[in-house]
Amino acid sequence: MEQHYDIIIIGGGLLGCATAYQLAKRNAGQILLVDGNEIASQASARAACLLTRARTKPALMELVQETYDCIGEIEQLLDESLELQQCGSITIASSEASLKEIEALEEAANRFGIPNERITRERTKELLPWIETDPIDVALYMPTDAFIDSALLCSGYAKAAKKLGVTLRPNSKVQTINVEGNRTTGITLINGETITAPIVVNAAGSWANLLMRPLQIGLPFTPVRSHFWISAIDSERFPANHPFTVIPDARAFTRSDVGALIIGLRESQCQPFDPATLTDKLEDFDFNEAAKWTVLDECAPLLKRFLKDIDELPIAHYMAGPSCYVPDAKFIIGPIAQYTGLYTITGCCGGGVAAGGGMGRLVAELIMKETPFVDPAYFAPERFGKVDPFSAEFQKRCADARSNKKGG
Ligand SMILES: Cc1cc2nc3c(=O)[nH]c(=O)nc-3n(C[C@H](O)[C@H](O)[C@H](O)COP(=O)(O)OP(=O)(O)OC[C@H]3O[C@@H](n4cnc5c(N)ncnc54)[C@H](O)[C@@H]3O)c2cc1C
Repeated sequence: MEQHYDIIIIGGGLLGCATAYQLAKRNAGQILLVDGNEIASQASARAACLLTRARTKPALMELVQETYDCIGEIEQLLDESLELQQCGSITIASSEASLKEIEALEEAANRFGIPNERITRERTKELLPWIETDPIDVALYMPTDAFIDSALLCSGYAKAAKKLGVTLRPNSKVQTINVEGNRTTGITLINGETITAPIVVNAAGSWANLLMRPLQIGLPFTPVRSHFWISAIDSERFPANHPFTVIPDARAFTRSDVGALIIGLRESQCQPFDPATLTDKLEDFDFNEAAKWTVLDECAPLLKRFLKDIDELPIAHYMAGPSCYVPDAKFIIGPIAQYTGLYTITGCCGGGVAAGGGMGRLVAELIMKETPFVDPAYFAPERFGKVDPFSAEFQKRCADARSNKKGG
């Protein structure tokens, strides 16, 4: 029997689930969300989970604010906590260049009404017992920043969407997105089942280009390795819920994790992956874990000024995953001009936890022909013209976007 829906969403990560929630909230009709794996089990279960509010890129603060709003709404709808941890953040400058970045952040935060204050070295030490304060020129404290378990947030969107009527189908891999002429008609699963719908949203994360390739569409991103290290527990030095930090001069961020310290570092040459090499499940993919020590060797000297014993710090865990980077470090959200009814939401640039709620809202507004709350032109899928995401040259451009990233 043929199954028919108004909208099919492919991908049950943060971006697909946020889209499902935002569409369901708008009574968009019969909605199906399919995922080849369990919901919330892929990149969205591997994040460092920072919800950084102040941003200098256009429209980003609005997108992040929408995520915070979604968290409140979903907690009410489900009558359960999503365990947002409002720990605050501290951005640290110790060079002329990073001082300029802090000034731009302050300006953005003030414009958007995000509480922020410059704090003394003494106050910084109180909040961050592990840090060396001598190299700090300016420390900018934002007390309302938070982090959240990304898998819990993703499940929260999915549960809320389900409560509002969305059908969730995990463990149902999509083989093809189907088209007739220049119209989208639905999907076929790997078991041969065909499901029709006039609107299909490709939210398949790192795999999104594999579904677009047969349609001659290249989305302008590639998966790039993101990673962090987690120290052994030392609750006195790394108290639970102390502010997360962003330290551009060390290409680093840190976050507390129940008495341990999460340390995120960006190498000068980040590692892109050819999407054609991806396995269906990230647990089967080789992120070249051996590189965790060489990357640490490259990056530790910069962080050493702030965390003096980093060379001896016991490392208990390492986490690697793909983030979908775009050459201009902006998301990919909107309709695909070539096929009526085909949309995408991807290219998270390492920000899908923070911005996912807003990204989902934007794509839902575009599908529903509502006035978008931010300018969609920043995120238009075709803004680079024709690209080949399977070429090494293009993948390098995407990796450079992560190598040059400064914020959290
Ligand atoms: C180490 C690391 C740290 C990070 N830290 C942060 C952070 O601090 N803050 C922040 O905001 N962001 C962070 N991120 C980024 C964040 O994790 C991503 O932006 C987010 O998870 C992207 O969600 P997604 O839905 O696009 O991808 P995914 O969660 O990977 O979801 C895509 C889904 O599509 C499914 N799929 C693929 N192909 C098919 C198919 N053919 N048929 C059906 N289903 C399919 C997959 O099974 C998968 O479940 C981090 C990422 C990593 C890796």
